[in-house]
Amino acid sequence: MKTIYETIPRDITGWKITVLGAGRSGLYVSLLLAKKGAAVVLSDSGNVKIEEILQKKIEFCKVKLDLGRHSNFIFEADLVVTSPGISDASPVIRKFQKRGINIVSEIEAAYWFSRKIDIIGITGSNGKTTTTSLIYELFKNSGYNAFCGGNIGKSFSEVVLEAETSDPANSIFILELSSFQLERIVHFKPKISLFLNISDDHMDRYENQPEKYLKAKLRIAMNQGKEDWYFYNSDDKILCQTIPSNCKSMAFGLSECTDIYFNDGKVYYQDMAVIHVDQLKLKGRHNLYNILAALHAAQIFHLPLEIIRKTLRDFAPVEHRLEYVATIKGVEYYNDSKATNVDSVRYALESFTKPLIVILGGKDKNSDFSELIPSLQAHCKLAILMGAATEKLQKILTGTLPLIQADSMDNAVKIATKSALKGDIVLLSPACASFDMFDNFEHRGRVFKNCVLKLIAHHDD
Ligand code: ADP
Repeated sequence: MKTIYETIPRDITGWKITVLGAGRSGLYVSLLLAKKGAAVVLSDSGNVKIEEILQKKIEFCKVKLDLGRHSNFIFEADLVVTSPGISDASPVIRKFQKRGINIVSEIEAAYWFSRKIDIIGITGSNGKTTTTSLIYELFKNSGYNAFCGGNIGKSFSEVVLEAETSDPANSIFILELSSFQLERIVHFKPKISLFLNISDDHMDRYENQPEKYLKAKLRIAMNQGKEDWYFYNSDDKILCQTIPSNCKSMAFGLSECTDIYFNDGKVYYQDMAVIHVDQLKLKGRHNLYNILAALHAAQIFHLPLEIIRKTLRDFAPVEHRLEYVATIKGVEYYNDSKATNVDSVRYALESFTKPLIVILGGKDKNSDFSELIPSLQAHCKLAILMGAATEKLQKILTGTLPLIQADSMDNAVKIATKSALKGDIVLLSPACASFDMFDNFEHRGRVFKNCVLKLIAHHDD
């Protein structure tokens, strides 16, 4: 049995490692571990199609593939590395556990080879991608070799491979981290961790136990020491009650009086006004939290004020996050397809002052939609319901605001357009996952945008 707990096992020559899940993180961690001398088997019970270029790399590194099943030989291993999609409850994990084989996440395995390059880790229920992308821009514009990955774009293993020839002193990893990725870390230790907020999400995977979800996310700080920083949102009651004591911590929030704060419509950094909200492309109160969190990370590395000002002015919302699509006959259309939980929809609704027509629905994640009622009543003239959650939404929202059901995105957009008056806003902000009707939230967002663009083609406005 190989030991992984006492010290980081940087020498894995000859280890037999099974990687579970042949998505992007599984593929790249297989390449990384094989490069470090392990005999790697990559197993996925699905019939995964691997891009040709990656397939060649996999063959070159002698990674053995076991696709469409989990063959018996994969259980002869010194270590298992899991992709985030594989939960503890899956039979294959149970089988490894029974045999007493150590299991770590892809994030942990990639960390072993990250060459002590500083890591900024970002977690939370909402805002991770926005904040991670903003921090990446801030560091890149300040002259760092910044590598962005994790739960966004590239996997951590992929950026570890990319950073192999980079000068560690001038490099930084900026990682978006989901609760799934943090579940099986052992040594993983960011220099800075940011915990943006916590609200119920993924209750389907956490058996309706919010404390399990919180516990998984708090693991981000578990290995941090007295020289490391943990930043948390002080307007989030739960986060105020769960501050780790093993590292330095500081709060950010709209009422905080540190030298990074928000006052009189302006964002302040090191006690100096940087930018007025009207100059920001990022809209809404939630994005102010994201900006304050990002600036705390920037401050630890003394990033210059002028770079911060320019980056904030130029930074546009990431696609599918309150993304402006078009204005047609005086009606504005916004794509917020990434709003897959109740809290993100609440923030979206509260970001607008004009009357809203909101498109809700998709695959329910055991969410409590009744939490949306006050914001729906305050901001929306109509909710259009679609997808698998339609009946549940209809039941909960009946009598609180006008509702119409739609059987497709095309129909939803048509109904919204017909019901909208000049000055209204049509917003796709579903509060649900997308897998009932679409491949993923990006696909859903693109379909929405195409439906809107079709309207432009029909009305030359
Ligand atoms: P994540 O990566 O955590 O899912 P994103 O930046 O992709 O976060 O945003 C997801 C959704 O949450 C979008 O609808 C976005 O408008 C909304 N959102 C962004 N930041 C926050 C925040 N700090 N609090 C609540 N909702 C947010």
